[in-house]
Amino acid sequence: MPNKELLLIPGPTPVTDEIYDALSSETYAHTDPRVVACTLDSLAMTRQMFNTDGEVFLIAGSGTLAMEMAIVNTVAPGERILVLSQGFFGDRFIKLAESFGILVDVVASEWGKRVCPATVRLKLESAKYKAVTITHVDTSTGVLADLDTLVPLCKTFGALVILDGVCATAAAPEDMGHDYGQGARLDVVLTGSQKAIGVPPGLAIIAFGPEALAARAALGKVGAYYADIYNWLPIMKDPGKYFATPAVNMLYAYRKALQIIHAEGLGARYARHSRVAKAVREALRLLGLVPLADEKVAAPTLSCLLYPAGVDDLTFRKSLAAKGVVVAGSLASLAGKAFRLGHMGNVEVAELRRAIALIGETLGEQVVGLNVTAALAVFDAQSRQ
Ligand SMILES: *Cc1c(COP(=O)(O)O)cnc(C)c1O
Repeated sequence: MPNKELLLIPGPTPVTDEIYDALSSETYAHTDPRVVACTLDSLAMTRQMFNTDGEVFLIAGSGTLAMEMAIVNTVAPGERILVLSQGFFGDRFIKLAESFGILVDVVASEWGKRVCPATVRLKLESAKYKAVTITHVDTSTGVLADLDTLVPLCKTFGALVILDGVCATAAAPEDMGHDYGQGARLDVVLTGSQKAIGVPPGLAIIAFGPEALAARAALGKVGAYYADIYNWLPIMKDPGKYFATPAVNMLYAYRKALQIIHAEGLGARYARHSRVAKAVREALRLLGLVPLADEKVAAPTLSCLLYPAGVDDLTFRKSLAAKGVVVAGSLASLAGKAFRLGHMGNVEVAELRRAIALIGETLGEQVVGLNVTAALAVFDAQSRQ
């Protein structure tokens, strides 16, 4: 089932034929040995992706469920967390944690910028935080978090580091075995199926490292049932057991996606995303579209692009969609001033090239003097391996 539209929003992303085929395979009993084997394969490949020997959970739900599972299984009501926010999805942790009676402090960046490490340090010195949340790529701004700076900083103060990888996993390194300095490691990485992994929406994926598992153990009871990892731990060890019906077909699709990811190779996949993201932005700059994030902090997965003067957002996106390319509007104060373009997952370079050509053509309906040929030439030169 080939896609009729090129879906270049910040997720869901284009789904390949192989993944659709896996998704539409016959639904077996969730306890069937073939489903059990699929789940065990998927868990092993997820462990490999995050390079963790901790516990991995594959649960029916969206990325937000994964965020909730990360918080409720590590932080008790009345304890304090620090949210490092580089946009809309960073902010999501505030209300989420408050819903569970957790005390929340925030260090927020200006949209399009990174949080200031000195401000983060001051906050960490000011109170005892059980955990710090970091959004790897904030989907509202296209900013990539500086893990090399933030992870060791937070761990120095004894906080658990929870990484929201929903818009980054499988496109940027999320290595839970990596020592960021003096033994500082990521404690929880959470993600969803529909972004750079390239599966339709519907699976929440969460990995807990040893310190996070110790935090869960120390909590005793938690204020959740479906989201309590202790209800899922026996299932992830033996997927033939039942707690709540797993999304069988989503697991077929997810296994296929992981096979594709590991066949490409994590290193090659990360390098491809970085290279193609730069090429996309360089080409679009020539069409007068200015990325919100400076190239030094820009994400490999999506870009938030400011329109040149005189372009009406809705007219542009409608006309582009009529040509078969779907991009997303922007959020909050950027609404109407910028659009967001996903360039992640299994999307092909040739598809992104076609998108750039059509973006140029569509912008040309509202502004004069664009050189689409030059933009495509830059894209071709930069996107090549
Ligand atoms: C999309 C996204 C989410 C929310 O995921 P849902 O699947 O929509 O619940 C959370 N965090 C980030 C960084 C995202 O990009």
